[in-house]
Amino acid sequence: MGETSHHADDTLHRRGLMFILSSPSGAGKTTLSKMLLAADSEIRLSVSATTRPPRAGEIDGVHYHFVTPEHFDRMIEEDDFYEWAEVFGHRYGTPKGAIRTALKDGQDFLFDIDWQGTQQLYQKDQQDVVRVFILPPSIDELHRRLAGRATDSVEVIAARMERARAEISHWDGYDYVIINDNVRECFAKVHAILEAERMKRARQTGLIPFVRGLMG
Ligand code: 5GP
Repeated sequence: MGETSHHADDTLHRRGLMFILSSPSGAGKTTLSKMLLAADSEIRLSVSATTRPPRAGEIDGVHYHFVTPEHFDRMIEEDDFYEWAEVFGHRYGTPKGAIRTALKDGQDFLFDIDWQGTQQLYQKDQQDVVRVFILPPSIDELHRRLAGRATDSVEVIAARMERARAEISHWDGYDYVIINDNVRECFAKVHAILEAERMKRARQTGLIPFVRGLMG
């Protein structure tokens, strides 16, 4: 049998993709993002800039680039953002920075952004964007998850539920929708989508020379 010295999968060049995970808070998006980053070495988190102050345990440059409102204004003026949006009174944006060149080199990026950011990214770059939306299994379960976080007042929980409903209403702007009934199963589905999207013909820029070689 004629053996080749390389596996096609290891050597074929492909274009990276922008993998967006959105969900209402409480549907498990953060857990799923962490699982994906831990399980898959080819995808990296896109670190957003935000004017929101850091929460306990959040590290500048890892979870977000924490910037002042003035700094954020300057970034807008200098056209540094792929997209930006105001969410719950603070501004969040995806810096263009290294993303464009890294995509060409085959680097995948994970985006934990809301529906507004998803729409903007998609308008700018439909080819590279894959949009995944995570739904809670039921409104009761969502309530349980949102209420179970701390000793919050009824009003605070009601406000969170309202925001969650507003986010859910944008479910139809996504390519894939997964109901997170069981986090392991949900993660397997998310990962399967990522793997399948990587194999799309248009992303596999190394195919032409490879197939030419096959045809002799
Ligand atoms: P948090 O303050 O809880 O970290 O995030 C609040 C919301 O902002 C989340 O829904 C998150 O998905 C969204 N968000 C985070 N970064 C960005 C970004 O760069 N662009 C947009 N449009 N939304 C973002």
